[in-house]
Amino acid sequence: MSMQTHVGEKDIYRYIYGMLPEKTKIEVDLHISECEECMAKVTELLHRKMEACKKIGGLFLKAYKNSLTEEEVKFWDAHIKLCDKCALRYAEFVKTKEEGFISVLIGHAKDLSEIFKIQDFLRLPAFVIEGKTEEKSEIRNVISLSKKGIVVVLVIDKGGNIKAYMSSDRHLISGVKIALADRKKTGFEKIREAITNSDGVADLGNIATLPRVSSKKGYAVILSNLKEKVD
Ligand SMILES: [Zn+2]
Ligand SMILES: [Zn+2]
Repeated sequence: MSMQTHVGEKDIYRYIYGMLPEKTKIEVDLHISECEECMAKVTELLHRKMEACKKIGGLFLKAYKNSLTEEEVKFWDAHIKLCDKCALRYAEFVKTKEEGFISVLIGHAKDLSEIFKIQDFLRLPAFVIEGKTEEKSEIRNVISLSKKGIVVVLVIDKGGNIKAYMSSDRHLISGVKIALADRKKTGFEKIREAITNSDGVADLGNIATLPRVSSKKGYAVILSNLKEKVD
């Protein structure tokens, strides 16, 4: 490629999608650094590619549900074939849908025995009051944590057992691992862990035998095995 010959249409595409052999890529770099016309083409196409990546991102859910329109399928196929970035992003999206997140730190519960002295029935979420399991009178104290459309309410029942109630409009509530953990230098160390039942309730064991944590923030509440609802 010399200064006289501009970069061909195909090579510009391959350049933008990072598909040129290294030697040719260097030649194109050199050429566009000195040729306004080709630089303009590259810029224009790069911009269109960015728009396309954005548009593809908006189609992930539809593609996953197999409900792309015919036109969207054409656009999808053409772009995914060329764009490694979007192909990876989509693979990640599917993984999240099918395997769930690794874990979410939903928040901290300070010294449980202290905080749970606050009586605050009015702030009890409806799903706890309406009682999938307990009667109102059995619930003594409560703490509520939320993040990413998930709510976890920790309650100590009459028997001194720590119960975690999970609700979410975005995630499945059954089969979720809920853990109380201590943050150590090397990471989180789980102290208690239980899996939610079909009502989103996990029994984290008795408070009397719960070890204290070293972290000033208190007990880290970690959710794992989370799965997004697919409708
Ligand atoms: Zn040129
Ligand atoms: Zn893309």
